[in-house]
Amino acid sequence: LEEKLQEFEKTSSLASLSAGIAHEIRNPLTTARGFLQLFEQRCEPADRDFVELTIRELDRIQLLLEDFMGMSRPDNESLTQVDVRDLTSSVYQFLRPEASLCGVELAYDVPADPVHAVLQSSRIKQVLMNLMQNAVHACDKFGRVILRLEDYEDHIVITISDNGCGIADLHQLFHPFHTTKKAGTGLGMFVSKHIIEEHRGHIQVDSVLNEGTTVSVYLPRLSG
Ligand code: ADP
Ligand code: MG
Repeated sequence: LEEKLQEFEKTSSLASLSAGIAHEIRNPLTTARGFLQLFEQRCEPADRDFVELTIRELDRIQLLLEDFMGMSRPDNESLTQVDVRDLTSSVYQFLRPEASLCGVELAYDVPADPVHAVLQSSRIKQVLMNLMQNAVHACDKFGRVILRLEDYEDHIVITISDNGCGIADLHQLFHPFHTTKKAGTGLGMFVSKHIIEEHRGHIQVDSVLNEGTTVSVYLPRLSG
């Protein structure tokens, strides 16, 4: 037990240190971006491309910080009892515009009765957003993504299926910074796994190349 407690203290102080650093980087970043935008309007037209490029690079740092901070705030949010349908529904609604821009059809399947669970709702929402975004980005024409919620006695399962490109390098999926996207951070799956395991759940991935991917999130009803 002693050992476990020490390990816990080590990880939680590391986590709060990284959360602090991420936060401290964000503020000057926002200031720098603001001034660059002002500068962009008055600099020589020939220099404008450089300024734009610099702004895009700052946006990349911002994205990295946001993905990373999702992980480095473990004790910040309390566990609350929620109807998980509220989470799935808000993720579904939020992603509809993006999906329709990509020409991807979204489907939604949840029980008619409330699905109660005790969890950190905004962190679980972050996980679902990331999994749904990955699914939408994996699709091209005739894409279809299904978000499904199932209710069992002592656990719930949230399943996200897509008929997209499939995953070629499954063994690297959860590695930090592994990405196949031009503007990806490669932190989404890594952070998601961390959050789900903190809830004493697990993530299962089934994927067939060029056919699609199904990601299932198993969560105990009481994760505390
Ligand atoms: P990012 O989305 O920033 O690339 P993630 O950790 O969320 O980082 O995902 C890592 C990589 O896993 C993605 O770049 C992609 O190659 C692959 N991936 C994740 N989900 C899917 C999916 N549903 N279909 C196909 N590939 C996926
Ligand atoms: Mg992602």
